[in-house]
Amino acid sequence: MSSALRREYLAALGLETWVVRGKPPGSPETARADAPALRDLPEPRDLPEPRAPGAAGDSSPGREAGVDWPELRARVAACTRCALCNTRTQTVFGVGSQTADWLIVGEAPGAEEDRQGEPFVGRAGQLLNSMLRAIGLTREQVYIANVLKCRPPGNRDPTASEAAECLPYLEQQIALLKPKIMLAVGRIASQNLLRTEVTLGRLRQQVHRFGLSQVPLVVTYHPAYLLRTPADKRKAWEDLKFAREVCARV
Ligand code: SF4
Repeated sequence: MSSALRREYLAALGLETWVVRGKPPGSPETARADAPALRDLPEPRDLPEPRAPGAAGDSSPGREAGVDWPELRARVAACTRCALCNTRTQTVFGVGSQTADWLIVGEAPGAEEDRQGEPFVGRAGQLLNSMLRAIGLTREQVYIANVLKCRPPGNRDPTASEAAECLPYLEQQIALLKPKIMLAVGRIASQNLLRTEVTLGRLRQQVHRFGLSQVPLVVTYHPAYLLRTPADKRKAWEDLKFAREVCARV
């Protein structure tokens, strides 16, 4: 990507003031802000062992061999495994390329997603699109899903039991997609995926691993949070560059 185009994308992220004023592109100061950091990646963290499919007590949906995308989508659409089925307008399965290297995972549908049946729409979705473009990806080149497929009323946080009931659907999406990298956006998604209560700030800038296939997982801020806290867009940009480095080394 040309430096001019990248600056344009960074401007879309609200990071146009990041480039040092008065310094031409390519100067050392600009390079620090513009170029990916070249450093050794940290080791994966020790995380709880993933559940084995078919293990005792595993009644997860979609665990059977041979479940394909249409079947999984149909199962989600008909799901009544938790009470959120009573208040949803529709399920929000996921969107994007079914051969994508990148899987973006958020928390749960909001009001607009519940209406449209697609994750990350509205202003937060537009910012996510800009974040992706900043690392040379389009929305169509990645796959986007949530931990929960149904909207929690009033946009409250998902409960632990709701997340536990719904997570197997995401696990099955991952089994079908086989992504090279997962980008968890926001605290709720990150903590549910990593089964931890560690703060998002401490989960950032590390390579975690998810599931039986040990997919590399990187954590960053949710675009809705970044809209409220634009000062943290710079950290999000660091996370995106970090994730890009990780993906390049898979
Ligand atoms: S949130 Fe998940 S588990 Fe609960 S009803 Fe919706 S699809 Fe089923």
